[in-house]
Amino acid sequence: MSLWLKYCQRCFVNRVVVTRGGFAVRRGPAAAVYRCCSTVQGEVRVRFAPSPTGFLHLGGLRTALYNYIFAKKYGGKFILRLEDTDQSRLVPGAAESIEDMLEWAGIPPDESPRRGGPLGPYLQSQRLDLYNETARQLVESGHAYYCFCSSQRLELLKKEALRSGQTPRYDNRCRHLRADQVQEKLAQGASHVIRFRLEEGVEPFQDLVFGWNRHDVAQVEGDPVVVKADGFPTYHLANIVDDHYMKISHVLRGSEWLISTSKHLLMYQALGWRPPAFGHLPLLMNKDGTKLSKRQGDIFIQSFQRDGVLAEALLDITTNCGSGFNTNRIGRRIDELISEFNPSKITTHSALLDLDKLPEFNRIHLQLQIEDEEKCCSLIKDVREQIQQSYTAEIQDEEVLHEDYIRRVLHLRKGHISSLKELVSPVYSYLWVRPSFSSQQVAALTPEPQHIASLVLKLIEERGERLSLDELAKDLKTLAKQAKATKYREVMKLLRLALSGLQQGPSVAEMMVSLGPAEISRRFQKLLLLSETS
Ligand code: GLU
Repeated sequence: MSLWLKYCQRCFVNRVVVTRGGFAVRRGPAAAVYRCCSTVQGEVRVRFAPSPTGFLHLGGLRTALYNYIFAKKYGGKFILRLEDTDQSRLVPGAAESIEDMLEWAGIPPDESPRRGGPLGPYLQSQRLDLYNETARQLVESGHAYYCFCSSQRLELLKKEALRSGQTPRYDNRCRHLRADQVQEKLAQGASHVIRFRLEEGVEPFQDLVFGWNRHDVAQVEGDPVVVKADGFPTYHLANIVDDHYMKISHVLRGSEWLISTSKHLLMYQALGWRPPAFGHLPLLMNKDGTKLSKRQGDIFIQSFQRDGVLAEALLDITTNCGSGFNTNRIGRRIDELISEFNPSKITTHSALLDLDKLPEFNRIHLQLQIEDEEKCCSLIKDVREQIQQSYTAEIQDEEVLHEDYIRRVLHLRKGHISSLKELVSPVYSYLWVRPSFSSQQVAALTPEPQHIASLVLKLIEERGERLSLDELAKDLKTLAKQAKATKYREVMKLLRLALSGLQQGPSVAEMMVSLGPAEISRRFQKLLLLSETS
């Protein structure tokens, strides 16, 4: 018989399993089981806690996404909390934009600054009383103390450490001030911060992804500031206070915070609070293993949105390069990401993101959306707006803005285009505006343009409204044979020219099906006229 520590498959918290010959025979102790499963029963609360010191980028979106999926998988709540305590680094508009981008991505928070919720406010700058009250508790219980060291002194400490080749750290001098000295300085209104007293001998904790961990923080750093001179808390204090009062059950965040977790656990201990479970997500990197760049604004969610990338494609590519699923496959929508998510499959290696594959992800998701009637309606609106913007006065026939026309085009082009933007590019302009071509272009292809144009007009009249790709493809072969002095290839080139003014593009049959009989006739009448006059 042996004892194993295993994650609870449902809520991901550790529990003891007694096994015999590889089979679980008893789970216990009861308290551990109760504790882990009680977190799942309606109580999973996870949060995404960005600082609005910049706009949402792919790394942030990925952290938000894993939290969202986790919450939805276990029937919990996904909370957006904005950590805006570093007032000097706030970027105007970033807070609103982060929430807009989560909504756009289809992973909206259940509770947030905009949506509100029972345990708000969700903006740290509106929770200052809570941090001050907690800091006061820590000072009163002796776990924190006032520090009056000047910035000059701290600077000097830093320089000395660097000179002797050591890592700079605060020497904890103000730990040793007597109570009357502290009172006197406070009474004089001396500028001060509050520092948390780091104790030696940190307990290990089990990270849901990285396993057992322990960082003896007191060995490597001085006592950290928890309340700054401006009265604002630092990240470390505000973060744990909010996780506690917002009843966060699981903290899923970037692995850069793994080394801070022991410090956070010391604070929970000092306050007598039960900590949440922690899971650190490995970093998202470029495919060559370098840091994701933000330099050209290329990984900001707004720029993907602007470039016509579908949110679902972005979510799919970020989860495909990482872990947390039994298998990776392209084309997963958010509901499938939730159902296929398996947190025990999150690995510790960095996720390598290959953005060159994004058009392929977009192509597949665009196809899925075109096939979904509801989503297709919003794509139609989107295409219509883009056509109106790009072709404004050039549109000769309002029919091209009609829902049925755009829907037909989308269904014919699905699987071929990677973005709706392609549809308004010059290659597809023939769909929206009538093409122009010259009699010289025509003459270069055939000596009998009138004959061919009449054959097409006759064919379209016979076929009536019912045009199908397969039938047309056959009809065009037969038609080409009726052209005495022109080869099949040239006939097709002529048809393509008359329909689109171009030499390349989708098949001639497809062009015809998209345009419909009335418009085909108009374009071939034009060919007739041009040939008569030349
Ligand atoms: N505000 C921190 C950040 O932007 C949050 C870290 C955490 O999730 O605890 O990375």
